[in-house]
Amino acid sequence: MTNLRFRDKGERIYDFLFKYDILIECPHCMKCAKGLRRKDGKFGYIMQCKRCGVLTNPLVGTWGNGTFMGLRLWLRTNCCGKLLWAYNKEHLDFMDGYINATLRETLPNMNQSLASRLPIWIKSGKNRDELIKGIIKLRNKLE
Ligand SMILES: [Zn+2]
Repeated sequence: MTNLRFRDKGERIYDFLFKYDILIECPHCMKCAKGLRRKDGKFGYIMQCKRCGVLTNPLVGTWGNGTFMGLRLWLRTNCCGKLLWAYNKEHLDFMDGYINATLRETLPNMNQSLASRLPIWIKSGKNRDELIKGIIKLRNKLE
């Protein structure tokens, strides 16, 4: 059996948060919507849903633990008694690579990296099988 290798390239959570659209659950129709960065030069996000259109008010609120600007992320699922979540496909790909790896190479002096900051339950080898199932569930939610 060959090892699946994960190499920490120093990606930070902000790389996934700020470089790509965020997938959120539309609070009106509960389908997948996008949190898009504002195009008027101001910092902030608007929500665009295929069914409901564009939410006129910019999104405000906090993010973290499966939410973004107070809205539920689209990519979230219960796993190992916790919440497994990702902001977008790119973030999910990163988590997929990390969780599926049998060999994880970390960088020294990289404690800002997302890989080094993942919670213990995600890093733990004993949760790997369940985490892989969780990742598959999330991948199935991508259109
Ligand atoms: Zn909607």
